[in-house]
Amino acid sequence: MRPIEHYFRFLTDFGQPKYRATQIIEAVCKKGIIDYDNIKVLPLNLRQELKKKLPLLSLKPKKSVISQDGKTEKILFSLSDGLTIEAVLMEFEDGRHSICLSCQTGCVLGCRFCATGTLVKMRSLEAEEIFDQVVFLNSRLKAKDASLEITNIVYMGMGEPFNNYQNVIDSIRMLCSSKYFGFSPRRITISTAGIIPGIERLALEQLPVNLAVSLHAADQQLRCQIMPIAKAYPLESLLSAVKKYSQATGRRVSFEYIMLKNVNDSERDAEKLASIAKDKLLHVNLIPYNDTGLNSLGGSDLSRIRSFKLALQKKGVNVTVRTSLGGDIAAACGQLANI
Ligand code: SF4
Repeated sequence: MRPIEHYFRFLTDFGQPKYRATQIIEAVCKKGIIDYDNIKVLPLNLRQELKKKLPLLSLKPKKSVISQDGKTEKILFSLSDGLTIEAVLMEFEDGRHSICLSCQTGCVLGCRFCATGTLVKMRSLEAEEIFDQVVFLNSRLKAKDASLEITNIVYMGMGEPFNNYQNVIDSIRMLCSSKYFGFSPRRITISTAGIIPGIERLALEQLPVNLAVSLHAADQQLRCQIMPIAKAYPLESLLSAVKKYSQATGRRVSFEYIMLKNVNDSERDAEKLASIAKDKLLHVNLIPYNDTGLNSLGGSDLSRIRSFKLALQKKGVNVTVRTSLGGDIAAACGQLANI
């Protein structure tokens, strides 16, 4: 949906009071209504005019898939130019309702374990297109139970957030504004593959979101094999940028580490990771690998993940294993590819 100022202009031109804009935004953000027809406080002629001239959403849901356990829903959206993106709504055991957003229609970074990196039709999303994924998923949640709220938002879907920096930040500022969702930035996470200029810019934003860095290897050579972007932003420089970021903001940074069988899951890999991640302002999130069917990579088995975690804990590293949802509908990490 458009920013409130846009609605003010439209309403003035239509001879309507400005408070109608607040009524529209409240209906959308607080009640999860995404259709002007159902905002009954608006006069009928205004609803009709809005429908014709100011479409409520910048994207249209095209397909929805729900996981077998009913806890994850993946939505495929089509954008105004026909390109498509995916976003995911997840319900966790502890009651959290988390959503994963896309910020580009593909990704040029080509991480080897990721399906999104294989998509070629690439453009960055506008802030409105990112924001509207939340509007739609919020409406989905409210349709199940009007009292439910989105508790966490992660920018970990299709695309690299720092390759669409300004629109990502604008969408976050809009989500956090009390005019719209009033979402706490502390419940928003931006995940980057390690774009150092983005980390440096974020440190200056005065925006206390969480930063996650996709590390996936604690060794420059191996990291280059898994993530080609590591050639442009070498591990040593990345670690120094992360250190400066947490010193400047006082905020903890997460290292995401996807567990790949016989690639990055040995005792030696755990030792290397411990040597760079042993810091109270760092946290390691081990991610079970989700098969994309696109390469020969395989996931570490559960016992290996457990012993890897133990090895890190013994060295004093803050470490958790991510609960992965939606693997059966290709909605888990690295699987989003418009399928
Ligand atoms: S993991 Fe993220 S940065 Fe890497 S190719 Fe996939 S979408 Fe791009």
